[in-house]
Amino acid sequence: MLDEFLNLPRVAYFSMEIALRNEIPNYAGGLGVLAGDTLRSAADLRLPLVGVTLVSRAGYFRQQIADGGQLERPATWDPARWGRQLDAKVAVRIEDRPVWVSVWLYVIESRMGGRAPVLLLDTDLPENRPDDREITHYLYGGDEVYRLKQEMVLGLGGVRILQALEFDISAYHMNEGHSALLGVELLRRYAYRAEDVRPGELAYDLPRVRDLCRFTTHTPVEAGHDRFPYELVKRLFASSVYGYDDRALPKPGEPGTEHGPIEFSLLTSLGGPNDLNMTQLALSVSDFVNGVAKRHAEVSAKMYPGYQVRAITNGVHPNTWSAASFRELYDRFIPGWCHEPELLVRVYGIPDALLLAAHAQAKQSLIERVRTLTGITLEPGVATLGFARRMTAYKRPELLFTDVERLRKIAHEKPLQIVLAGKAHPHDEEGKRLIARLHGHARELAGAINVVYLPDYDLELALLLVAGADIWLNTPLPPLEASGTSGMKAAFNGVPSLSVMDGWWVEGCIEGVTGWAIEDAHSLYEKLEHTVLPLYYGYGDDARGWVKVMQATIGINAAYFNSHRMMRRYATEAYLR
Ligand SMILES: *Cc1c(COP(=O)(O)O)cnc(C)c1O
Repeated sequence: MLDEFLNLPRVAYFSMEIALRNEIPNYAGGLGVLAGDTLRSAADLRLPLVGVTLVSRAGYFRQQIADGGQLERPATWDPARWGRQLDAKVAVRIEDRPVWVSVWLYVIESRMGGRAPVLLLDTDLPENRPDDREITHYLYGGDEVYRLKQEMVLGLGGVRILQALEFDISAYHMNEGHSALLGVELLRRYAYRAEDVRPGELAYDLPRVRDLCRFTTHTPVEAGHDRFPYELVKRLFASSVYGYDDRALPKPGEPGTEHGPIEFSLLTSLGGPNDLNMTQLALSVSDFVNGVAKRHAEVSAKMYPGYQVRAITNGVHPNTWSAASFRELYDRFIPGWCHEPELLVRVYGIPDALLLAAHAQAKQSLIERVRTLTGITLEPGVATLGFARRMTAYKRPELLFTDVERLRKIAHEKPLQIVLAGKAHPHDEEGKRLIARLHGHARELAGAINVVYLPDYDLELALLLVAGADIWLNTPLPPLEASGTSGMKAAFNGVPSLSVMDGWWVEGCIEGVTGWAIEDAHSLYEKLEHTVLPLYYGYGDDARGWVKVMQATIGINAAYFNSHRMMRRYATEAYLR
């Protein structure tokens, strides 16, 4: 079953979440979607990767909205429906008992025939204690004890399962710091006693491990980093961590033992003196570190003095993020685009009428979904603003509603409708209040502007929204949006962004060509009223104005901000070194 993936060395791509398909609710947002797009591009390009994540049987959650409030329902799924359980099991020692980890294989199948394996780690086994069986259940659920157990299973268990399955791993790539314990496992694997150099002490081959590890950071603020008190680390690692004792350890050159201990001083020297900072740990064990956009790499480099932080700007998967009507158009006029999205520069050869028709079709699909979900009928001829993302304070979903009267006046002259969606993390009380307040604004504007909130934002809804909106709005508080990817998805469907200059938009915005930059609510209203809507409604002297913008989003931005370009860069700059 696995043979086809064992014939050549692979890069192990570790991520706490990997969005594989809409039916599998094991992702929370952009990080997981990026991980999925990474592996989908690897399958398309036949780059040898293997994904490693937790099975997250209970998923993230399904969102319902009642009276403007978010209700959370379990999103349990059955891995047997989509994957195959492999015949391998490894143990991770947690609080001095073995927690057994088994694994499911999910295979990503490219439209072009390539295949990429993804391993889903699962502790739901009869040999585990009831609470241990749930370690791999809830994505971002539970407290910090639960989270550290998950990160032990992901980092330590993931490396061991790859070995048990006999994968030949040429590099380990950490998508965010959650999997940083994989570095500790590798240090443990290659630890040896060098009696002649340091009698009685363990020697760790840090250069060898650094040579194996790559780290992509996603968090532009110190407060966002995962960190654990060392008291907790000591308790969960128990006798796996020690001052040192006389356990038998391999000599140089011998393979590591399954349960060799880790020196506590090693953790503090790599993970920071005060608590175990997973970003710090990932930085310490990796000799290639990158941010997810140029601006983000600059911000990160300031945050981690002494480390070289490169920039590999994110991208989105071409075939996944093009609506059916656009896929058909590209297949017809730009053969090869799925393999080589740079070819989208040839969008200028597609007749205007066909481009507009493809968009009209995508917009109609969104309108139909809005009607099914909310009972509200939007107008195909009215300019539609889309905004969908995780509902959390820094994304500032309320910025658009700062001055509701102003918005009402703008829409009186130039009609507008607004489509919103997004989940708030169950512990993010402010995020939930934002959802409630957005519903309040929708009521205030009733009769003047249709504002709809679609429940249960997921991959499918995301595609309907980014393709069916006319303008994609993005209002994060700089510098907190490391990259952002939904605007790139919009670009694949000819939809321009109206966005704050942060993350990818610093590179993606050519004012008036691929979209527009804004700073605050004032500039948002000014641009909307005097630039964007007049162009949309064709009030200027350039009848082709809006089509030109659509062409540029595709020919300039989609041609560049795609995950094929991103993966070709990872391959040449991070993996082959
Ligand atoms: C693309 C995507 C995101 C991330 O969008 P951002 O613009 O980065 O906030 C989140 N959730 C889903 C379901 C997505 O498809």
